[in-house]
Amino acid sequence: MKPLASLVLAAFCAVASLSRAAQAAPAVPNIIIIYADDLGYGDLGCYGHPTIRTPNLDRMAAEGMRFTEFYSAAEVCTPSRAALMTGRYPVRSGMAHDQFRVLRAVSMGHLPADEITLAEALKARGYTTGIIGKWHLGVWSNNPDGHPQKHGFDFNFGLPHSNDMNITPVAPKGAGKLADQRSEWWNAPLYRNHELVEQPADQTTLTKRYTDEAVKFIREKKQAPFFLYFPHTFPHTPLFASKQFAGKSARGLYGDVVEELDWSVGQILETLRKEKLAENTLVFFSSDNGPWLIMNQQGGSAGLLRDGKGSTWEGGMRVPGIAWWPGKIKPGVVQRTLACTMDLFTTSVKLAGGEVPQDRAIDGLDIRPLLFGTGTVERDAYFYYRGLKLFAVRQGDYKAHFFTQPGYNQPKPDEHTPPVLFNLRIDPGETFDVAASHPDVLANIAKAVERHRATVKPVKSQLVETVALQAPSKK
Ligand code: MG
Repeated sequence: MKPLASLVLAAFCAVASLSRAAQAAPAVPNIIIIYADDLGYGDLGCYGHPTIRTPNLDRMAAEGMRFTEFYSAAEVCTPSRAALMTGRYPVRSGMAHDQFRVLRAVSMGHLPADEITLAEALKARGYTTGIIGKWHLGVWSNNPDGHPQKHGFDFNFGLPHSNDMNITPVAPKGAGKLADQRSEWWNAPLYRNHELVEQPADQTTLTKRYTDEAVKFIREKKQAPFFLYFPHTFPHTPLFASKQFAGKSARGLYGDVVEELDWSVGQILETLRKEKLAENTLVFFSSDNGPWLIMNQQGGSAGLLRDGKGSTWEGGMRVPGIAWWPGKIKPGVVQRTLACTMDLFTTSVKLAGGEVPQDRAIDGLDIRPLLFGTGTVERDAYFYYRGLKLFAVRQGDYKAHFFTQPGYNQPKPDEHTPPVLFNLRIDPGETFDVAASHPDVLANIAKAVERHRATVKPVKSQLVETVALQAPSKK
């Protein structure tokens, strides 16, 4: 062969092999998790709310998959977020406690450094990572190790904790239940990365500003795979809506706030379409726990489910779950298989071409077969903790309660020996106890509890320690 031809052939082969390599390289999707705070199972149009208008979430469900049995792993904020970030029941990471149920503004504790967050797992696979919204896994003004940038996030914009946690003495009694709000009562600190940019944060513009930041993040990071974790501040009370939405819904301020969140979801999906990223991005929408019913008209609705935030009845932990990925997830599918926020950890890591950590218990399952309609997912049981205590277990259609503690503030649980048992397919409102006629089901659940308990090691709770209280100043 002539030298030139051989050179051309070599060049051709090199190009061909490059092109084969490019084809063989697994395309990893962008991942966006949008997480509402205290949004109930019954608060969206596509979950049956009669007066709150959510056209964007309804469209997301119509174009994607709507789960009817999607669960948060806890009934309050901090443990729920710990589970989402780690794929593990919060009792494993120290992010649960019976009395101090969430991190407070004075807390020193945080998600332990040896927990592997979804952001860290995806960053290791080459993702750019950002959190926009409420973190609630460490108050970094008390302890810098609690900052999201110590837990795998490249970018942070938002609040360290809930929007009611820095309440000032000028706030009236029961201020969270009021429809007429003032940002200065709550003195919430808003940060960009480590910098405090506003305190008190103007809460009327938070949803809008989060959304602008999220759109900017998507546009700027679109060249590489990205993970955007977008935990909204609302509809946690106190409720605030922008001028554009205030007074517009038929459901009062709560409806205004949810309709603004719906607008925000629409902005995210529209940005993905415009940037031609829709077919390479998994978007998942959910909520951290059920509606905060003690907030009266300022709290949401769990629809036909029993109770709400703070409770291990279904209304406290079963939440909306909508998956969207045009071209990969079939449109208009209603998914009735149980799935949960911890599955988002495992599934996202798999989608990124990785493996979940092997040196610890991971509770999330890979739900790609459900999302893509290629198969089923086998789950032994689902465990409902309140703090450190196992309150209830679901296996198949049945849910057994060992303890119940209705409402948010009841001081002590009611113990059930033998457990009360409900068939959730027939009785999703948990009204009719069928324990007496199903001893076999209770026996199987007892075995599942035994298997689960063998995997849970006691760890120090991070929710107890607070910053040293200042001695009262001498006059
Ligand atoms: Mg919450």
